[in-house]
Amino acid sequence: MLEVVDTIEALRGRVADHRRSTGSIGFVPTMGALHAGHASLIERARRKSGIVVVSIFVNPLQFDRADDLERYPRPLDADVELCRRLGVALVFAPSVAEMYPVKPEFLVQVGRLANHLCGKHRPGHFEGVATVVLKLFEIVRPDEAYFGEKDAQQLAVVRRMVTDFNVPVRIVGVPTVREPDGLAMSSRNVRLNAAERPLATSLYTALRKVAADVQAGATSAPAITGQEATLIPADERLRLEDLELVDPDDFQPVETVTDPVIAAGALWVGNTRLIDNVRCTPRARS
Ligand code: AMP
Repeated sequence: MLEVVDTIEALRGRVADHRRSTGSIGFVPTMGALHAGHASLIERARRKSGIVVVSIFVNPLQFDRADDLERYPRPLDADVELCRRLGVALVFAPSVAEMYPVKPEFLVQVGRLANHLCGKHRPGHFEGVATVVLKLFEIVRPDEAYFGEKDAQQLAVVRRMVTDFNVPVRIVGVPTVREPDGLAMSSRNVRLNAAERPLATSLYTALRKVAADVQAGATSAPAITGQEATLIPADERLRLEDLELVDPDDFQPVETVTDPVIAAGALWVGNTRLIDNVRCTPRARS
């Protein structure tokens, strides 16, 4: 039986009851507007953990643009229904006032991991993510927490945060779920209009070609990304913000590819910023 709670006190009480009866607590933090990508995290958690707790909280601290926060979809009833169908035990859907009764004086400062890509273009974003995830870990105290590889830099930030702060939680990365045409599922995809939607797949097309180049033996990152950026159609609605090869652990740019790297990109499609990434494995040297 699914329960929905909106206070920290109620959540802590219910998690404590479950811990006594069911064992391990699996946690899936989300901002709601759930789709098949979130469902895949929840299903993975259902298979591995005793019970699953899903949080639905649009965290103002991680938004660098007021219009993005305002326009973020919040279909709570549909989200709760999906959680019910997926066998979630607890949905934690707090208000902003519950999570931040006063303006926080302490934030988690993220180091080099936030220097590039989303960290560079969205000032304060990863500090906001790390802060809310640490708060949620303190509130839920999960044994395992599930994050999507779709947000690979976020996953790396969370992994490093729990290492650096000795947080007793196991972080599980879950592969990206895509639409049939390859577009990574995202709560922001609903904002794309009919003309923009087909253009949005060009980022994944470019990323896949980068991965193919690396697999085929290309090693110069600037040459590879320079070449494959041309796969983004010249269209006034499209603006490629990033196409970079980075180290999978510290997200620093790689100049010469010798080991597995992540090809990460951000593409503006109209007023919507989409991100995606692909892991690239170089050809084994003989
Ligand atoms: P969000 O609600 O966008 O903050 O995402 C919540 C969690 O779902 C994060 O760990 C995301 O990485 C993950 N996620 C979002 N989209 C996808 C996707 N297409 N495939 C897999 N995981 C995803």
